[in-house]
Amino acid sequence: MSIGSNEEARSRLEAIIDAAIFAIITIDERGVVEDFNRAAEAMFGYASAEVVGRNVTALMPEPYRSEHDGYIRRYLDSGTRQIIGIGREVVGLRKDGSTFPVHLSVSEVRLADRTLFTGIIEDITARRQAEERVTELQNELIHVARLSAMGELASALAHELNQPLTAVSNYANAARRMLDFSGNKDPHTASELLLKASDQALRAGEIIRRLRQFIEWGETERAWEDLQATVEEAAQLGLVGTRSRGIAFSLNAEADLPRVMIDRIQIQQVVQNLVRNAVDAMDDWDGEKSVEVTLSRISASRVEVAVADTGPGLAKPVKARLFEPFVTTKTNGMGIGLSVCRNIVESHGGRISAEDRRGGGTRFLIALPIEQA
Ligand code: ADP
Repeated sequence: MSIGSNEEARSRLEAIIDAAIFAIITIDERGVVEDFNRAAEAMFGYASAEVVGRNVTALMPEPYRSEHDGYIRRYLDSGTRQIIGIGREVVGLRKDGSTFPVHLSVSEVRLADRTLFTGIIEDITARRQAEERVTELQNELIHVARLSAMGELASALAHELNQPLTAVSNYANAARRMLDFSGNKDPHTASELLLKASDQALRAGEIIRRLRQFIEWGETERAWEDLQATVEEAAQLGLVGTRSRGIAFSLNAEADLPRVMIDRIQIQQVVQNLVRNAVDAMDDWDGEKSVEVTLSRISASRVEVAVADTGPGLAKPVKARLFEPFVTTKTNGMGIGLSVCRNIVESHGGRISAEDRRGGGTRFLIALPIEQA
């Protein structure tokens, strides 16, 4: 910058740069710092005089530090842009050695005889923290919804467990009596009874295992999962305690469905919820009562889970706001089930929707990407 007639312009520009809320740092072609404004001083903990004349890499931790000289060289040689005019999230290094996330955008300033680069830097620590907090809260909500679903199911589950446990006790008693009184004539039948008892004990154990997994607090964890097994297990959980209500259940899966990259427990929560809603909807229903789950591949990259019921269909007032929280027609309903479902499905990069089922009832559709980008 020339001095003299431009003196006033220069000091005005400096004042503006110093008043900026973003850190502004200018470097030359070798990466040597020429300007370091006030906001940069506050952000990095250095006085301008400590940084000017040094390489800008002092302000970044590894691996950015080692990569930086290469970036500038490559850009000057070939025009390959890593950051110029694009902006990127990188990491800054303070004088005290601590690091913090920043958004950096760089522009190029071509002077008559040389090129300068100006970096505008925003500390995004607070934004990051807010984002992490939102994710945390969402996970908490999802977990609370799961616990509340379980609370509603608790008595039904106690009943469901009672059945195999009673059967275990009956089979074991019958076998014991047989061994006591038959003079051991029929060890074969006794052994069969004991086998049945052990099967029932395993069944009870399986119910408990499913439950424990379902209510446990887990960090979200995605893995390649078998969609049919995932959905089937969840649907069974949703049907717990409904055996006496005369509801027919079917699951149809297209052959050769691919594995999907999902958080299994969360997707199970969605399916359990939809099946439970279907069952609830047909509580006082005189017509046909059936829940039909269908799995299909709808495109090269997406699969669909459909949960249909033959109940009364969606009530008009909830239709438009179905997936919003606290929308419910049930006296004891919280109305958070479907909003949590949407939250989970969308966090998987999928979509959830509802429609009237042809022939009556409701159909919920979940389209899920096989693998998220
Ligand atoms: P809740 O079950 O606590 O009411 P949801 O968000 O799961 O909360 O459901 C919201 C509302 O959507 C229900 O109260 C009900 O009116 C309606 N709904 C959901 N599923 C069905 C269905 N299969 N058939 C009819 N109505 C349904």
